[in-house]
Amino acid sequence: MAAHNRFAIPIVDHCNLNCRSCGNFAPLAQPTFLDVNGIKDGLVKLAELTNADIDINIYGGEPLLHPKLLDIVRSVRQLFPRTDITITTNGTLLQQRHKYFWQTLRDNNVAIIISHYPCLSKYIDKDIIKLIANHYGTQLHYITEEPQKMYDNPLDLSGQQDINQNWLWCSMAKICPANIRGNIVYGCYLVAFVHHFNTYFNQQVPVVEQDYKDITTIQSMDELVNFLSNPIPFCKFCKVPGNTNTDKVWTRSERKIEEWTT
Ligand code: SF4
Ligand code: SF4
Repeated sequence: MAAHNRFAIPIVDHCNLNCRSCGNFAPLAQPTFLDVNGIKDGLVKLAELTNADIDINIYGGEPLLHPKLLDIVRSVRQLFPRTDITITTNGTLLQQRHKYFWQTLRDNNVAIIISHYPCLSKYIDKDIIKLIANHYGTQLHYITEEPQKMYDNPLDLSGQQDINQNWLWCSMAKICPANIRGNIVYGCYLVAFVHHFNTYFNQQVPVVEQDYKDITTIQSMDELVNFLSNPIPFCKFCKVPGNTNTDKVWTRSERKIEEWTT
């Protein structure tokens, strides 16, 4: 099941790196920024349901592209005073951040996690970034010390896959946090982002009502956990067994449909 004690808030759908097969379809997304005022109700309800006792990850696309990132950080911290809050970034925009950025993260006890792709050294000096973070007392971690590999979870556009088998075999279903966008909770990030794939390639991979929940209609934590603990109709569009490849060499996307289907 999607973790129900960890939630992710995608705040920007596009990205400046354009990695091949990006699971969030960021290379296909038009510039899209989360409306800061639009997140309040959903997060208030999430805090109420979970007693604000969850971990929160702010991510994207590339979250550092959001011009109101620090306002978002402050709002999330206000609603979740005790929780671990992290920002996952590709790191490429860190070196040009003003001291106010580092201080605000430190003051709100928010840690930066860098997805360490092989091209990162073109954009930042790892030692300098560590020094800057240490200087301001801001927590900074890398997902891996060595550059990361990419993973694939290809789509089956025919929707002929076995939902339950997929769910059982799907590593994303077990390790990924649930996503919250506005008032909508998604157990799987693919559902939250597939509209970019559909628009770019003129496809119609459907998202139906059972694939997500409006959090304002959820009455209890049990109801939320139950939703996140079960397969969804969208699972029939994934080619999970035998196809998930977690060891692909990183390259840039050429925005070909095969990157997401084979
Ligand atoms: S850095 Fe992350 S969000 Fe951006 S394109 Fe690469 S995998 Fe996608
Ligand atoms: S939609 Fe696909 S990736 Fe998401 S949980 Fe289901 S099988 Fe896994």
